Amino acid sequence: MSKLGSLIWETMIAIGDEEKEACIHCGTVWYRIHHRDGVCHRCQAQGLPSRTQLAKNNRLIRWLLTLGSIFLILAGYAIYTLVTT
Ligand SMILES: [Zn+2]
Repeated sequence: MSKLGSLIWETMIAIGDEEKEACIHCGTVWYRIHHRDGVCHRCQAQGLPSRTQLAKNNRLIRWLLTLGSIFLILAGYAIYTLVTT
């Protein structure tokens, strides 16, 4: 194969790799067009959440944790003032 030919070949492989993606649940590497939002067909069929859905869930959990810690600080402060006064 000529130098130019191998260069084109390598570029084509690189583009091919670029379009592949691993499923966020089972890790199956497939072309991106076969994945929907990072999830493969099989996991979609099992009703597993998409990447966007997971990110949303994570945000909700973080928000709840923040709210919970604020509540604990306030409760702790209230108990502290009740005990010390
Ligand atoms: Zn999958």
